[in-house]
Amino acid sequence: MSGLNCPYRKKCGGCQLSNLSYERQLSFKQVKLIKLLGKYCHISEIIGMKNPYHYRNKVQAAFGERKGEIISGVYQSSTKSIVAVDSCMIEDPTADEIIVTIRKLLKSFKLRPFNSTTGKGFLRHVLVKRSFATKQIMVVLVTAVREFKSETKFVNALLSRYPEITTVVQNINPEYNGLMLGEESKILYGDGYIEDILCGFKFRISPKAFYQVNPQQTEILYNKALEFAELSGKETLLDCYCGTGTIGIIASKKVKSVVGVELNSDAVRDALVNAKINDVENIAFYEADAGDFMVDAAQNKENYDIVIMDPPRAGASKDFLRSLVTLSPQKIVYVSCNPVTLARDLSFLTRKGYKVKKIQPVDMFPHTEHVETVCLLSKLNAKQHIEINLDMDELDLTDAEKKATYQEIKDYVLEHSGLKVSSLYIAQVKQKCGIIERENYNKPKSEDAKQPQCPPDKEKAIKEALKYFGMI
Ligand code: SAH
Repeated sequence: MSGLNCPYRKKCGGCQLSNLSYERQLSFKQVKLIKLLGKYCHISEIIGMKNPYHYRNKVQAAFGERKGEIISGVYQSSTKSIVAVDSCMIEDPTADEIIVTIRKLLKSFKLRPFNSTTGKGFLRHVLVKRSFATKQIMVVLVTAVREFKSETKFVNALLSRYPEITTVVQNINPEYNGLMLGEESKILYGDGYIEDILCGFKFRISPKAFYQVNPQQTEILYNKALEFAELSGKETLLDCYCGTGTIGIIASKKVKSVVGVELNSDAVRDALVNAKINDVENIAFYEADAGDFMVDAAQNKENYDIVIMDPPRAGASKDFLRSLVTLSPQKIVYVSCNPVTLARDLSFLTRKGYKVKKIQPVDMFPHTEHVETVCLLSKLNAKQHIEINLDMDELDLTDAEKKATYQEIKDYVLEHSGLKVSSLYIAQVKQKCGIIERENYNKPKSEDAKQPQCPPDKEKAIKEALKYFGMI
């Protein structure tokens, strides 16, 4: 299979590996993991997709205007302007078609995209989520203002073209602060959520709750996580960063009890409903920061045999890891979407009495550089384990430079502030913050050559990213 022949490749920047054949992408990821994690244990061969196209069940498009025409697509990787995209090789094709149709409907209903310079206009983004198993579709129209001219007619026009749409939601986001969705949502049609089936269980997905974007690979990932956990029916299981409760609910029939912890209130609400619709009674969910929850659990000497953790890209916090070690579960199953932070967290856990037993990568994001990994750790018994009392901060600082790649910092800044930043700017901020840069990276070619200096707004955004990745 050769690389993706995508016309938007350079401008979009979303599929960093698409110039490689799929086989080479898989080897690239395998090698990356061996470099980062190979010292801990053998890394099983990455599980790829048979058909690595159109796998994304969640599609989002930004709306704008160019030369009087409405455009929709993704933000260009090097500027804030929109790259007009009609169809994408990794996205669900129906979702892409719906977005094109909405663009045409806007024109016929004389509705305009929101323009951040003039402060005028209506539509900012469209988000489409599609269930893999039930084929239900949710359309979220993210608007800058609440008033929706010809709302009913617009929704009916959309539904008449796509009867498979089961719900339409208007989300109002008056002030874009880096997050696509605002606080307030209004259901315009249907239930305001869709349902999907994973590993034989039904899950409610609402607009704001996290749900894995590649359902076929998610089943493989979850099955691996549970296989690693080797459940006997007697265990107490803690599912940290549980989202809508997926992993814990799927595991619930094979354990004594489950506790799920999640920060996002919408996801927790969905998790509670998900437990109910699947008749799961041995599960409880807590809306909390996972680190805070673990500190409390450790203080209260709670007992969990197995902890499954699936943190966001930043990995787990120091509080979380310290308390996890205090709780001392027999097994930890770590599901990670960022091998860099996984390596950092494994470095801590293996110094504190755990051994990495298995590592299984699953390709959840073909054509992109992102790598998902599931990792099993077991507690060493006291004889095997000689505690080395190294403080986390000590470990962190020495490896600060390795924690996040330039691309990861750029992605974070773009996602959270909407700003594009160059490697040069990142290097300048790193220097300011005392993180040593590689020799010559940042030097001008001649002594008096003028380099552009990182503007304050970008500096602030880069510092936030460095903080997020635990680098400062
Ligand atoms: N295991 C779930 C979700 C994984 S994504 C699944 O497979 O669907 C990571 C989740 O961590 C998200 O739902 C996010 O809202 C949650 N999260 C992020 N920071 C958190 C924190 N500090 N404490 C608890 N949950 C957090």
